[in-house]
Amino acid sequence: KSDFAALAPMPDDPILGLVELFKKDPRETKVNLGVGVYLNEAGFLPLMECVEEAERRLLERHLPRGYMPMSGMPQYCASVQKLVFGKDHAAVKAGRISTIQTLGGTGALQLAAAFAHQFLGVNQGVVSDPTWGNHIAILKADGLEVGKYAYLKADRSGIDFEAFKAALNALPAKTLVLLHGCCHNPTGFDFSHDEWREVVKILVERDLLPLIDMAYQGFGAGLEEDAFAIRLLADEGVTFLAATSCSKNFGLYGERVGALHIVCDNEKEAQVVTSIMKRIVRQEYSNPPTHGGQIVAEVLGDPELQASWRKEVEGMRSRIVGMREALYAAGKAEGLDFSFAVKQHGMFSFTGLSAEEMDLLREKYGVYGVRNGRICIAGLNHRNVEYVAKSLAAVFK
Ligand code: PMP
Repeated sequence: KSDFAALAPMPDDPILGLVELFKKDPRETKVNLGVGVYLNEAGFLPLMECVEEAERRLLERHLPRGYMPMSGMPQYCASVQKLVFGKDHAAVKAGRISTIQTLGGTGALQLAAAFAHQFLGVNQGVVSDPTWGNHIAILKADGLEVGKYAYLKADRSGIDFEAFKAALNALPAKTLVLLHGCCHNPTGFDFSHDEWREVVKILVERDLLPLIDMAYQGFGAGLEEDAFAIRLLADEGVTFLAATSCSKNFGLYGERVGALHIVCDNEKEAQVVTSIMKRIVRQEYSNPPTHGGQIVAEVLGDPELQASWRKEVEGMRSRIVGMREALYAAGKAEGLDFSFAVKQHGMFSFTGLSAEEMDLLREKYGVYGVRNGRICIAGLNHRNVEYVAKSLAAVFK
């Protein structure tokens, strides 16, 4: 008898499962606002020009494919660290940040959780309610107990900052607090700078361990602006972890390129932390893949190529902002207030629709969003935005 006969199938991932359903849908009017991938005005995932150029250069060099160091490609780590913290940041110059290359933002989060649990004795983590579903799964898989902190107002119109602060203030010391650095997924609601200052104060006072997840740098208010929270924590001398990703802002989803940054008190500490991270990596996957990190290092390492990359990212960001405004206007034409779309940042909007309403939106109108009410704004374009607004209006009414 098979060893596997008693196994039951796992339910589909709520987001990736939607892709399968969408593919099977024969309707021409169908719109995919489910998965978090940036699509251009033509409705396609673009290959960024600077990535193409970097690949051309790499190909010409005919580099052999040896193993990367366990901590990843040094030039990649140094460039991404500067991108995240700012090239002149005192923490960068002091060498007190341990940065390693990871398998996307997901890999960075997983290593962060493993480090916190195995080496800092952290047993409890909290995530925002709601959050990206994988946050909970990743922390649990690494042995943490996972709780939730209040985030959204009951009417889903914004952040309930008072409830959030109360939740933070009630946490025991050494709790890992996972915060979205920018472009909160799924709600699109981010803290203001003043709110971040208050958050940092509480994190320090309560002796909590911040883990900042920044998967969308450049898609919210801009490449530098989006890094505000991470840079503030570093300015304030807080020791913390940050998981970043090149999936979205380089369009390198499938290459699995991310980074984990552990901001330490001094350079010596950072070296110790890097040695520990290398040990964790060694037993998990030994070393990261070469290609994606090389592309990013090539782009960021060449001032001209970096400048054109910044322009391309800004182009994606402004297209998203433009589609937010278009959705708001199309809602107005239907007599509805879609101001949520213009108040939020990044690829995602929380519509406030229930799971059943999202089912109706999908079944009756072929508009695919996540059952928690999230739609991906980057899936909108000038051809489908009115149809989406009309479909949303029909479900809202
Ligand atoms: N964090 C958040 C909030 C995300 O939305 C994502 C991607 N969906 C990630 C991390 C991880 O991204 P990746 O592993 O693809 O870089």
